[in-house]
Order: sequence, then C-alpha cells, then structure tokens
Amino acid sequence: MSRSFLFHIRHIRVIRRRMRCFILLLGLTAQALGSGLASYPQFVVADPPGATREGVRVTYLGTNGYQFEFNGHALLVDPYFSRVDLWSVALGSHIQPNASRISDGLNHLASGKRRTDAILVTHGHFDHLLDVAALMAKTKARLIASASSVGLVRQMPDANGLVTDAVKPGDVRRIGPWTIHVLPATHDRLFGKVPYNQPSSQAGSPQRAADWTCGEPFAFLIEVNGQRIYIDSGGTPAQLPPNEHVDLAILGVALPDSRARLHAALERLQPRYILPSHQDDFFRPLSAGFQFAPLSDFPFVQLESAQQKHSRLILLDYFRPWTLPKAANHEKRLNQQAPNPRDS
Ligand SMILES: [Zn+2]
Repeated sequence: MSRSFLFHIRHIRVIRRRMRCFILLLGLTAQALGSGLASYPQFVVADPPGATREGVRVTYLGTNGYQFEFNGHALLVDPYFSRVDLWSVALGSHIQPNASRISDGLNHLASGKRRTDAILVTHGHFDHLLDVAALMAKTKARLIASASSVGLVRQMPDANGLVTDAVKPGDVRRIGPWTIHVLPATHDRLFGKVPYNQPSSQAGSPQRAADWTCGEPFAFLIEVNGQRIYIDSGGTPAQLPPNEHVDLAILGVALPDSRARLHAALERLQPRYILPSHQDDFFRPLSAGFQFAPLSDFPFVQLESAQQKHSRLILLDYFRPWTLPKAANHEKRLNQQAPNPRDS
C-alpha cells in the first residue's frame, strides 16, 4: 500500500471522527435549545379537521418528506418515517428501516382512496432514501431519483419487482395528473463538506448512515391542476432555482448554505406561499412532535420571507394536510399550462 493511499485513508477516518463528534454535539445542544411550532402559531396552516377541499393537498411527513394529493392520485417526496436516532448515526452503527414506524406513517396517510403514482427523492442520504424501498413495496409506486440513489435502493433486500426510473436534470415525467421536471441542485455543506459524499466501499446493501451517499442532488418542479410547486431539500448559492414563478416553494433551510441562497431563490421563484423545509430535528421520532433542529434559524427565514411582498410564509405540522389555495388568475393559468402531447 502506498504512503499517499494510507494518508488518504487516515484523512477519511479523521473526517469521519470529526463528523461523528459534530453530530453528537448537535444532538446534545438540540436537547437544550429545541422549540416547537407552538412558538409560531401565526404561520401554521392546516385544513379544518374532516374537511375535504378541492385542489392540491399537501401533507408534511417530517424532515423533507411530503405527500401531494390531487384527484385520487398521490406523489411522495423524500418520505422518511424511521427517524434513526442520533447515536446510531454518530457511532456508525448498523441502521435499517423501522417497519412499525413506516406502517404508522402510512396509516396517517391512509384516509381516502388514491394511488401513489411515484416517489421522488432529492438525494441519497438516509434521511431521504432509507425507507423508500419499503414504501415502494407497500404502495407499488415507482421511484424517480438519481442513478446512484436508484442503485442504493436496488441493493436493498427484496428490491426485486420495484420499478425505478433513474433521471437526470432536464428530464420531464408525466404520470397521472403530475408533470414533474427534474432540476439540478447542490447539497449544503456540513463542517465544510457535503456529508457522506463518497461512493460507499460497502459491498451489498447499505449498512451504516455513511453508506447512504448523497449522489447527484435534484430539485423538482411539479405542475398539477394548473399550479406549480417547487421543492428541494436545501442548496448553495452556486445553483439557484429557475426563474419560474410558482404557487408554492418548499425550500430546504437546514444549514447555513441553504439559507445563504434563500433570498436569491425567493427572488427567482416569486412564490405565493413559502414553506421552509428540513428544519425539524429528524433524530427524534415523529411521535415526539415537531422540534426545530439546533442548526435551523427560523427567525432568519422569517426576515428573508418578509422581504417578499407577494409571498406568504407558512409552516405545516406533521400529518396535518393543507390544501394549496388557487390563485386569483387560476383559470387563465390553467389554460396556459395545458399539456403539450408532443413533450413527454
Ligand atoms: Zn442530505
């Protein structure tokens, strides 16, 4: 083995150790600093209990997970119910999907008859992809994700029979009522680097958090019912969303990088509604309720959002659906966005 190779391995180990210490520290400070949505009731929106409203219904699943529903069809984005604990991640323990938490999560979404058309995944980290193979098996939904994320899912036990679609930026998919545009994105840095960014040396199915490697990150622009939803899981100023006005912008704000691009992202998207995402503490089980993560900064997000005169900042609580209101000029936009049959 060459000296430079040994140095490289040692360097990786030091980075891993530092990352683990840092994650541990985060968890400990979270205990001290955590606060929930109760501090911001003016931003929390939800449909009245039992109400069925016309339109596109958005349900927050925690972390960066969402369900969108329209006319008996559903899409899932980054669904993650297992919520692996901090210690298992920090200590590099074996992690796996939690079957009972996944079933609880699906039970929350079970009301009404609808089919899940697809699961979209922004990147391969465990808090986005760990549960996806299990959810595909239960819902029969196809996966739309990067080639490396598809590869990770394919290595999971019982991946046979799952339908996967490895996409790249610029691709467009039309499924049921949804038109899904795949957009380029970047991933926030933690501790100066994108976490878990190296292809795994692990042969076979992913075992530890570090085996769930980032891969090529995506954002998605989803068109449905004449409305547009932009969603990403964070980013950096190096890659901004397109200059496309949207009804709802779901923007990851977990780390300083993604907040540094927030102003420019909002200027481009000019959303009617701003929904900051990935700002809860995803090391706690969903049953413990929404708690802001220690590196989140909702007061900063509020200040940035307040500069957008035509946008309304909202928050969603776990599993409390909200129907995206139609724009005043909705019918006009609906006609403008009639699908072009040649473009599929
Ligand atoms: Zn990530």
